[in-house]
Amino acid sequence: MNHSTARTNGYQTASSVAEISANLAHVKERMAAACRTVGRDPNELRLIPVSKTVDEARIRMAYQAGCRILGENKVQEAYGKWQAMSDLEDLEWAIIGHLQTNKAKFVVRFAKEFQALDNLRVAQTLDRLLQQQGRSLDVFVQVNTSAEPSKLGLDPDQVLDFAKQLTSYSSLRVRGLMTLALFSSDEAHVRPCFAMLRNLRDQLRQEAPQGDDFAELSMGMSGDYELAIQEGATTIRVGQAIFGARNLPDSYYWPDGQARS
Ligand SMILES: *Cc1c(COP(=O)(O)O)cnc(C)c1O
Repeated sequence: MNHSTARTNGYQTASSVAEISANLAHVKERMAAACRTVGRDPNELRLIPVSKTVDEARIRMAYQAGCRILGENKVQEAYGKWQAMSDLEDLEWAIIGHLQTNKAKFVVRFAKEFQALDNLRVAQTLDRLLQQQGRSLDVFVQVNTSAEPSKLGLDPDQVLDFAKQLTSYSSLRVRGLMTLALFSSDEAHVRPCFAMLRNLRDQLRQEAPQGDDFAELSMGMSGDYELAIQEGATTIRVGQAIFGARNLPDSYYWPDGQARS
């Protein structure tokens, strides 16, 4: 399988434990190779397999292949899967897509982390619900590093102010920043998005009240994770290179402007 064809959806569907294992091994090899090019330790990198659109049977195969955390873009899809697979007690869920306030109640029931925080109303709602349950939630602030109007996330120059306001919500544990780079096969357009997120994280460590809580950089997907790793990613989110191409177009997951769900 040629993983360099990421943008053309050339990934074959993995439909057995062996195929998923092989894809995972392949991704991990490439992660390690990307680390070597910049002298990083692969052990400081986290891979979140993204299972949106993947059905229960194949998710169970991924579990057998060793996956213990999965990323999902839509909270209700994730919630349904969590309910169906509650027997897999050590399987954790990361919500990586836009959240509407009225769906926050689902997130607090089962998610370990929420990576697409970009507005205070959602922060406030999550915090209130978490307080009621005596729980906390790891959060990443999503930043729009590509200046594309269709991308969600805060503008880079809004993030410091947002971080200051987040201190009011003590059940949200700030872990770092998340972004989607420009969708382009041209490295010269993709790499600056990742570098911008890293620079912003470094600035927040100095200037935000949470300081070093801004540790993580969640960036890099099937088509660009090696670049992201070279630019300092600590978490990458990889779907198609592990499970195969999705049938639904990305516009279903990243509608322009507000999410439709
Ligand atoms: C779908 C998705 C990914 C993974 O994309 P792939 O091309 O499947 O690797 C990563 N991040 C977010 C926010 C996503 O929605």
